[in-house]
Amino acid sequence: MTEIVVGIDIGGTNTVIGLVNRSGECIVESTISTQNHANLNTFIEAISNRIKALHHQIGIDNYVLQGIGIGAPNGSFNLGAIVDAPNLDWKGSLPICKLITAHTNLPSVVTNDANAAALGEMLFGGAQGMTDFIVITLGTGLGSGIVSNGKLVIGHDGFAGELGHTVAEINGRICGCGNRGCLETYASATGIKRTVFMLLAQSNKASSLRSVSFEGLTSKMVTEAAIQGDSIALDSFEYTGKILGTKLADVVTLFSPEAIFFFGGVAKAGNFIIEPTKRYMEEFMFPVFRNKVQLLPSKLDGNAAVIGAAALIWQEIK
Ligand SMILES: [Zn+2]
Repeated sequence: MTEIVVGIDIGGTNTVIGLVNRSGECIVESTISTQNHANLNTFIEAISNRIKALHHQIGIDNYVLQGIGIGAPNGSFNLGAIVDAPNLDWKGSLPICKLITAHTNLPSVVTNDANAAALGEMLFGGAQGMTDFIVITLGTGLGSGIVSNGKLVIGHDGFAGELGHTVAEINGRICGCGNRGCLETYASATGIKRTVFMLLAQSNKASSLRSVSFEGLTSKMVTEAAIQGDSIALDSFEYTGKILGTKLADVVTLFSPEAIFFFGGVAKAGNFIIEPTKRYMEEFMFPVFRNKVQLLPSKLDGNAAVIGAAALIWQEIK
């Protein structure tokens, strides 16, 4: 019998469930909708049923389930709960671990999706052998998972590492959290869209992005325009890199990481985002750290969020 764990990535729209072995390979995965469930209990029931179906699919005589790791927005490791996640239907403190363990008889742990990604990078990705590194997830928002002295920094409340909601610009853009000028309002897929529209308004340069609506624009389209040499697209990456790089200079000064990994949609822009970020990071960094920190794309194959959530439970049951 081969030991295997469940990795679950709960997003606002979809929830991905995968069975992951000790080498960090996702053997089978399946997606269910996070929305349109009568209540939290029916959602948990749907997850449990899908886990059982996947286990049967790979053979219950060949594999034995060891536990469940969950990555979720506002997931608190300490509480075993998801607390007031902005993009989920259910508010308050959701005791997700208790509920899922009751349905499956398996131990379960939860953390936020960026922390899960950091653990995945440490156990199975480019951070293997590193004790100090940071993972930045650049998706709809900006998440961060910080590993210091070989341990994930979770903090007193279990929410530590919310770099996306530190202030990048005083009196800056309004953020979904209610504050102003948060880093993720600039450095994220949504942030880049806002920057593109700001730059379009400030200049009369020709740009293929002028004919696209805000709703229709994606960070991938900005990357494609940048490849074509579109100056608004290139300027938007420069602007984003300046804000992100300056912030990362602070982070390096606080944690002295060996490397910073990027993953998520915006990270696919590759050097368009990494080059200006690195340049400004070095410029504003405390000199003792200069030219020592690598900025790298995530080395996790496949669904990093699922593999990261699986890494979380592998680490717990080790
Ligand atoms: Zn915020």
